[in-house]
Amino acid sequence: MGYFRKNIEQAEGYTPGLQPHRAEVTKLNTNENPYPPSPAVLEVLSQITSEQLRRYPDPNADEFRQAAARINGVEPGCIMCGNGGDELLKIALQAFCDNKRPVSFAVPTYTLYAVLAKLNNCKAIEVAFDKEFNLPAKLSATPAALTIVCNPNAPTGSIVSREEMVCLADEIKGVLLVDEAYVDFAQDNCTELIKDFKNVLIIRSMSKGYGLAGIRFGYAIAQPSLIAGLMKVKDSYNVNTVSIAAAAAAIKDQKYFRRNIEKTKKERERLTEQLRQLGFTVPKSHANFVLAENSGYKAAEIYDKLLQRDILVRFFPVPGLENKLRITIGTSRQNDILLDNLKEILPH
Ligand SMILES: *Cc1c(COP(=O)(O)O)cnc(C)c1O
Repeated sequence: MGYFRKNIEQAEGYTPGLQPHRAEVTKLNTNENPYPPSPAVLEVLSQITSEQLRRYPDPNADEFRQAAARINGVEPGCIMCGNGGDELLKIALQAFCDNKRPVSFAVPTYTLYAVLAKLNNCKAIEVAFDKEFNLPAKLSATPAALTIVCNPNAPTGSIVSREEMVCLADEIKGVLLVDEAYVDFAQDNCTELIKDFKNVLIIRSMSKGYGLAGIRFGYAIAQPSLIAGLMKVKDSYNVNTVSIAAAAAAIKDQKYFRRNIEKTKKERERLTEQLRQLGFTVPKSHANFVLAENSGYKAAEIYDKLLQRDILVRFFPVPGLENKLRITIGTSRQNDILLDNLKEILPH
């Protein structure tokens, strides 16, 4: 007999993007923010005392909860912190799903959802997006205990309107999890929904918009009853003293945050336009990446050629994405490096 539970034995696990250590790489593969976090973050980190490290952290991360509550216009009881948005996704699957309680989502999307389903021995009902990435009507008709909508969606960059989300939350019997990891780069969000719906759970990340992927911090927004249930599932000390201080400092500095977001949005429009001029099809993105396809060339080949030139983008060899590249929006200099190299790689 094998040592592992059957579903673990059969699971593939999630494959993260490459994290090379060499500084000269133009890294446009994991949707990190190209700009550093607010200077206020390093300032608070330099003030951490050994006494703070000796003690366990605040189990509820109240300093962050209060700041996030104020910024999102909700009560602190509507917020729960996690060791990255990914931990909150894991907690949600554990809390709502099992072998009799399936999860559903539209594909293509974040591949972690299917991985987490497998780990929880839970069926994943996958409904395909249409060519324009509209929310499939069939999603509301599944018997899912948990319906996930990644909004804006990864890796397509597409977005579903708040009105459509309201309809979905209303139609389904289970929980609607809106993964808003990329919402900082979009025009709208679904925070308002938690006022009217006790089955809506929103997940946010500090990794993308706030430039803190290295500290691992995310948070959930929902009605207090849903938050209280999720709290039972988490580790007592799931976020640490150092990351609470860093994340709180970052979210409090909204001015710095907004300035960086505007820079990325501007670069997103420029990169989209320039890639189209090089013959790529690039759907409008509401996130900090674009999904680009060039019908004249194999994505895998462009990926390899860029890699040889120390430029990293993301390629997913899965149905529907096999000829597309997901490219993170970098600084204008990084985007220029990418564009110049693409001009050399693609014969005219
Ligand atoms: C990045 C990301 C998350 C959360 O990432 P963390 O770094 O764990 O906060 C969640 N969902 C999607 C779709 C993401 O891309």
